[in-house]
Amino acid sequence: MQDVLVIGAGPAGIATAIASSLKGLRVTVIDARKPPIDKPCGEGLLPEAVKALGQLGVKLDSNLLFRFSGFHFLDETSSASAQIPAGDAFGVRRTVFHRLLIDRALELGVNFLWGTRVVRLEPRGTETSSGMIRSKWLVGADGSRSTVRRVARLERGGCARFRFGFRRHFEIAPWTDCVEVHWGDRCQLVVTPTGAREVCVALFTSDSRLRLDRALDRFPGACRHIRGAQPRSLEAGTPTLLGRARPVSRGRIALVGDASCTVDGVAGQGLSLAFQQALQLADALSREDLSRYAAAHARIARMPVRVTRLLLAMNSSSLLRRKVLRLFAAKPTLFAKMISLHTGAPSSGALGAAAMLDLGWRVMWA
Ligand SMILES: Cc1cc2nc3c(=O)[nH]c(=O)nc-3n(C[C@H](O)[C@H](O)[C@H](O)COP(=O)(O)OP(=O)(O)OC[C@H]3O[C@@H](n4cnc5c(N)ncnc54)[C@H](O)[C@@H]3O)c2cc1C
Repeated sequence: MQDVLVIGAGPAGIATAIASSLKGLRVTVIDARKPPIDKPCGEGLLPEAVKALGQLGVKLDSNLLFRFSGFHFLDETSSASAQIPAGDAFGVRRTVFHRLLIDRALELGVNFLWGTRVVRLEPRGTETSSGMIRSKWLVGADGSRSTVRRVARLERGGCARFRFGFRRHFEIAPWTDCVEVHWGDRCQLVVTPTGAREVCVALFTSDSRLRLDRALDRFPGACRHIRGAQPRSLEAGTPTLLGRARPVSRGRIALVGDASCTVDGVAGQGLSLAFQQALQLADALSREDLSRYAAAHARIARMPVRVTRLLLAMNSSSLLRRKVLRLFAAKPTLFAKMISLHTGAPSSGALGAAAMLDLGWRVMWA
């Protein structure tokens, strides 16, 4: 009998396994796929993700990562930059990062069953394609289209806004040490440096047929660097959305990562959320009190959800987007405040709601 069975060996599932092992729990993780597991992602790790990884004991080898120092937002007329005020942030190839997580989990004795699917949840255990697994706790870390969430009737509340995210890597020395967010008409192109000679380019759009190559012309600022660079991966895409499960646990079952709360990929917050949730969930499991997790989950998600709503509002209205970017360009301290909130700088927490209100007010009058 295991203490914890985790369904899904993505970043959230492995982080939960690591955190639970550190609490002395015996953990098995199953995943339908086999490593190396890739997934379309912007591949940015924000300071809160990096801090949580430190707590999990995951060593971030600087030879495998690219440190970035800030954000640069730009559209056809305006441009604003801000430094990340506190902590480290990195770009890292997803498959490389996944390997680092697996290695740390194996070091702690986590048991992995690859190529194994969940078939049925039963009171006496979980029926998987590799047989019945009994466990005290069951964690659904099976991504935004979670089977565990559906079967446990923990479906998403509120509106789920679907878009699509596509990503591709290009062989080119990063021309900036910032993550660039290029704003177009109802789409964004996010460029994250992931190596000394590599950038990850992610496109976010409501149009499932739009592809990176065609979209590049809409972003001349990025196009002049990327056009002609050698692609290092095939283009891959996936739906992305803003939506939350409510509640995030029922009985002995809890959700973590995208299964519990998905923020549109343009926010670059999914991994930060997943790792913070994993630490809180493991703590709650070790104390046998999942109500602690529900409270912590709501707190962790609050600010990223607010910032994502702002970004999605800028996506839906060109007028609003131009106003906000003009305002950020004219008032760099306001943009710096938003980046401070976005990257979870220690001093930003208490200011969160007030700063967002202030921003809304200024945009109205801009
Ligand atoms: C285009 C794009 C760009 C993004 N950019 C960033 C970024 O720059 N920074 C950031 O922090 N976040 C980003 N995100 C979000 C981030 O990728 C996700 O939040 C993160 O991958 C969530 O991890 P997860 O472990 O919860 O889910 P996943 O990574 O989806 O992992 C789920 C795992 O569960 C397995 N699984 C599913 N169903 C079953 C089943 N029935 N049985 C067994 N196994 C199963 C899958 O094989 C998979 O391995 C981006 C998202 C998108 C779409």
